[in-house]
Amino acid sequence: MSKIKHIALLGATGSIGTQTLEVIAAHPELFKAEVLTAHRNAALLIQQARTFLPNVVVIGEESLYEQVRDALADLPIKVYTGEKALCEVVQMEQIDVVLTALVGYAGLQPTLHAIRAGKPIALANKETLVVAGELVTALAEEYRVPILPVDSEHSAIFQCLVGEFHNPIEKIILTASGGPFRGMRRAELETVTRAQALKHPNWEMGAKITIDSASMMNKGLEVIEAKWLFGLAPEQIEVIVHPQSIIHSIVQFQDSSMKAQMGLPDMRVPIQFALSYPDRLQATFPRFDFLAYPALTFEQPDMETFRNLKLAFWALEQGGNAPCVLNASNEVVVEAFLREKIGFLAMSEVIEDCLARVPYQANASLEQLIASDEEARAVSAELIQKLVNK
Ligand code: NAD
Ligand code: MG
Repeated sequence: MSKIKHIALLGATGSIGTQTLEVIAAHPELFKAEVLTAHRNAALLIQQARTFLPNVVVIGEESLYEQVRDALADLPIKVYTGEKALCEVVQMEQIDVVLTALVGYAGLQPTLHAIRAGKPIALANKETLVVAGELVTALAEEYRVPILPVDSEHSAIFQCLVGEFHNPIEKIILTASGGPFRGMRRAELETVTRAQALKHPNWEMGAKITIDSASMMNKGLEVIEAKWLFGLAPEQIEVIVHPQSIIHSIVQFQDSSMKAQMGLPDMRVPIQFALSYPDRLQATFPRFDFLAYPALTFEQPDMETFRNLKLAFWALEQGGNAPCVLNASNEVVVEAFLREKIGFLAMSEVIEDCLARVPYQANASLEQLIASDEEARAVSAELIQKLVNK
């Protein structure tokens, strides 16, 4: 009965990638890493390949190709490089599921290719649904492939919906930790540093999503991700700040009943569920203790101070290319903040200006979204340069 699932893991060397490999290692009778990919971390990719013996590895950065190939020369592992390779390997015959744990816009094309090849998607790469949610979900429907959420909030919603798919959702409530700067005012945010922003209270994650969490853009992207995953209208999606990150999100049904999914913050839980659904697997992950958390608390998100969340709701209402522009601009400003070129508050300012400058397109085609992404990056870079020169 139990057939091994062959997994293509895109972004194996990242936070989600390495935790996915922990899940795979714990269930060798169920899961096999068939493809492992990384962008620049050749050393870790080599080590992972030697441990998990995948059929194929892809190192994105072409200058690292020979290093990876030579290091694995004694093993029957194929080594490829470049962006196009990602789009090709996801289509391989033996792959049963593609887990997208790579970061940013780079996830879009491989995901589209995987869907067209009929491969189910376990989606961590939320940016794909922000950029092109309508196209991606329509394509998934056309090819009848499921998109299973890995993001903890969306996994929570999905877990609440199991057994309820025939029941309409009244609304969902996404929980947000509030990040390291929760409760701060704009004056304090003027001077927060890269190092402070990289310290998340509850989760250890890659640099980009950690900054997104500090700026509340992560929740903004998740609102858009939720719209497409669960087919909701913007007014059916709410955000509540819940600093302890124990309740991972909530669904409210038409009879007023609410279901929440809870547990300690541990991404291995949603990762494993996306891979094992509809089954649940035994796991040794730490268990939640109510007495260690006598108070679970909730607050209104402060969208005036953390403008990104407001901008994301605005982009969602606009539709068309607006979320794509929001995402591209955000990727550029986060990079600039990480390089300490701009301050924390400048991120929202640039995104807002960029949304105003890139022409709006309703019903944007894939080509138009690709062009919007490029334009938004160029406009954002220009706006950042102006700030730097000031
Ligand atoms: P990370 O930075 O730790 O890892 C990113 C991975 O993607 C690395 O393996 C890297 O080599 C690869 N990569 C980076 N740029 C690439 C490119 N241009 N092309 C191909 N591969 C590239 O990131 P992460 O925290 O693991 O996040 C991955 C995705 O999962 C993001 O979309 C993030 O929003 C989402 N996510 C992460 C968490 C978390 O806890 N880390 C939770 C929910 C959702
Ligand atoms: Mg999340």
